[in-house]
Amino acid sequence: MSKVYYKTPDEIELIRKSSLLVSKTLAEVAKIIGPGVKTIELDKVAESFIRDHGGIPAFLNYNGFPNSLCISLNDQVVHGFPGDYELREGDIVSVDCGAILNNYFGDSAYTFSIGKIDQKSKELLRITKECLELGIQKAVAGLRVGDIGFAVQDHAEKNGLGVVRELVGHGVGVKLHEKPEVPNYGKRGSGMKLEEGLVIAIEPMINAGRASVKFWKDGWTVSTTDKSMSAHFEHTVAIKKEKADVLSTFDFIEEVLKQKQ
Ligand code: MG
Ligand code: MG
Repeated sequence: MSKVYYKTPDEIELIRKSSLLVSKTLAEVAKIIGPGVKTIELDKVAESFIRDHGGIPAFLNYNGFPNSLCISLNDQVVHGFPGDYELREGDIVSVDCGAILNNYFGDSAYTFSIGKIDQKSKELLRITKECLELGIQKAVAGLRVGDIGFAVQDHAEKNGLGVVRELVGHGVGVKLHEKPEVPNYGKRGSGMKLEEGLVIAIEPMINAGRASVKFWKDGWTVSTTDKSMSAHFEHTVAIKKEKADVLSTFDFIEEVLKQKQ
């Protein structure tokens, strides 16, 4: 899509419905994720849940992607394939999900910890999630795309973490990836002006080590060059005047995780 697509309030409500379906799908994943579970099993649960609720998995067949979820383990940043790998204690697992409902797209990602994880990974998850929250705080009308990127980058780098540059957030709603690009780095006051009607996916991808990543020959998987752990959290967000309207939510996931403890 070559130009920015501004949504009507009615369209934003439809994107909210798609985003909530994604959020609930990730909560279904949260219910079963744990040591010994194969990542392909998570994918099957997600696909069934989306279809049972009248949706279409947005990632399945997207540019040939073979699954409904992107599942990226440990040093993998994003776009990993679900497969026969059995999760084990100490893993961190980014699960990225997209759904189409009534022709509108929602997109959200959460990085789960499997059993007990080391302190450094715990910090990485906490700070990456904070980066997302700080980015969302800047997703208000009148500010610019660079304000979001600056907020994310500043918090990550102050904590000694690497901000992935090669992959970015994006406009979302009518298509999975729309304009504008929403980088996780930037200068305050730079880039496109944020206006009401803009819906974007903000998705910090943050590495425990260096920022650099490599692209695998499989055409999809992205991992850290230095093999450090990488985390990824994502929300679909509508720009509003005073405060961003976050259309996806982690509440369902975190309710499940609390009950599992
Ligand atoms: Mg996503
Ligand atoms: Mg996205």
